[in-house]
Amino acid sequence: MNWKGQISAEINANRAALEQLALTIGENPELGFEEVKAVSLLTSILQEAGFAVTRGIAGLDTAFSAVLGKGQPNIALLCEYDALPELGHACGHNLIGAASVGAALGLAPFMDKLGGTITVLGTPAEETGSGKVILVRAGFFDQIDAAMMFHPSSENLLMATSNALDAYEFEFVGKAAHAADCPEEGINALDGVIALFNGVNALREHLPDGVRIHGIISEGGTAANIVPARAVARFYIRAPRRQLLGGITAKVLNVAQGAAMITRTQVEWNEFELGTDNMLPCHPLALAFGANLQRLKVTDIAEFAEGRGSSDMGNVSRVVPAIHPYLSIGDGLVAHTPEFAKASVSEKGLQVAITAAEALAYTVVDVLTSPLLLKTMREEYIRQKESGL
Ligand SMILES: [Zn+2]
Repeated sequence: MNWKGQISAEINANRAALEQLALTIGENPELGFEEVKAVSLLTSILQEAGFAVTRGIAGLDTAFSAVLGKGQPNIALLCEYDALPELGHACGHNLIGAASVGAALGLAPFMDKLGGTITVLGTPAEETGSGKVILVRAGFFDQIDAAMMFHPSSENLLMATSNALDAYEFEFVGKAAHAADCPEEGINALDGVIALFNGVNALREHLPDGVRIHGIISEGGTAANIVPARAVARFYIRAPRRQLLGGITAKVLNVAQGAAMITRTQVEWNEFELGTDNMLPCHPLALAFGANLQRLKVTDIAEFAEGRGSSDMGNVSRVVPAIHPYLSIGDGLVAHTPEFAKASVSEKGLQVAITAAEALAYTVVDVLTSPLLLKTMREEYIRQKESGL
């Protein structure tokens, strides 16, 4: 049976609706956990196509699941749809949501014959809230055999690693006083924050390659003639592997304690965002996706790159074999810029979302129809986990 040809015909029959979906979400950007319009659009199309839709899963108003089929294998197609403050869809998540829904629509009429299940998961707030981490913890991947999505980019790339990330906020507390009249009565909380930055900079020299520590001072006092009684800094701490990151974060927390000691301040810290794990790309699944891209006449496909950013897809890749490939929506684009937002609603962007939908659906067919592929994926997943990556 020529499943792939029929699936492309089905996706093309839905092309106008899918492009409109990507465009409407792109032109109506919503921030993480507030993606009400996007979820309503994505889920109503899935519901019409016969999927059993549940909105508000894992205690998140804008997370959803949409299930069609029966039994295993159960393949998850992940949707993202959150935007960035001021810049709108400058990471192209409108295209991600539309592509995964497009793949699901392409597969829907054939699921009876193909066997197995597809689960479209709506994963909110990738940028700031790590919705996928919450879904992983709530068990939404327990019955899943593989998870996939695509991400828009400036290049075609099958596999990229990402950094594990911890997000810490440090609050230093001192004592206010007139900064000229009686500074000896005060304890300067901003000094604590500055000592933290200096200590982190000293630590930097002795950290392994690939580690990134970057922070801001989010509160540093209110007036130059008042000794700041409160100062706050936020840091992202990243490393290529979760195991490595644990030790580095511990060192940064030690620096914070030292900074408090030498400035006579008190320090407390909290994780202001959920941490994410580094991505373990599933090679056999990524290569299957690559072969499908070639079938769709996509050329210039790079196989592997080391990524410096972080994504909650990393946590998904820890519980099931997963891929997060990239497709170019324009040469030289840089994510999180106004140019990228423009490309995300361009003709080229919409066309790439359709190609991504086809390649994702083809790859689902590969997994559903090849027990050997599924077995190879599982073996690689276990090998990666056991090797401590
Ligand atoms: Zn993104």
